[in-house]
Amino acid sequence: MNLILFGPPGAGKGTQAKYLVNKLNGFQISTGDILRDEIQKSSEIGKKIINDMNDGKFVNDEIVNNLIKNVIIDPQKKNKLIFDGYPRSLSQAKNLDLLLNGSNQKIDFIFFLNVNKDTIIKRIEKRKILEKRSDDDLNTILKRYDTYMETTKPVLDFYSKNPNFYEIDGNLKIEQITAKIKVFLNV
Ligand code: AMP
Repeated sequence: MNLILFGPPGAGKGTQAKYLVNKLNGFQISTGDILRDEIQKSSEIGKKIINDMNDGKFVNDEIVNNLIKNVIIDPQKKNKLIFDGYPRSLSQAKNLDLLLNGSNQKIDFIFFLNVNKDTIIKRIEKRKILEKRSDDDLNTILKRYDTYMETTKPVLDFYSKNPNFYEIDGNLKIEQITAKIKVFLNV
């Protein structure tokens, strides 16, 4: 089973992804983590993306698509993919479809964690203290939220037509969101 956790920064995608990795014996694909890792390693890609990431802007689609290609078609991870933060643009969603089709896979569940701006600000302020992420200051958070709303609207329109699309109130507590996901997954 492959699934997508979709929603703005602070919606709780990462938290639910970690739960699902354990529950379903799956693999979390967090493009945010993959990109932060490139910065940490000071790789060529890391140098190219650091400014955009720190400014709360999206990283170029081609870079992101290339970085995750091998993960998607990795036979060991086949049908165990849990996407967290990808796709975030229409071009990424289409790229994902192509790669999945090409490897005889599909998306079985799309969970949209819909959350309001106030909740996001509170959660990210808390995460900033716990995780010390350089892109977690209030201005960057607001920028990331706006970028998300502008760029991902077409992705939302694209996926909301899919029969496997489920919207969940992301303002709920972690356990309540998990419980709803479990009902949909029947696990
Ligand atoms: P996240 O950890 O998912 O909140 O992502 C942190 C930052 O990484 C975002 O604000 C973007 O700058 C970048 N990023 C993560 N995933 C993507 C993606 N799929 N496309 C473009 N940029 C991304």
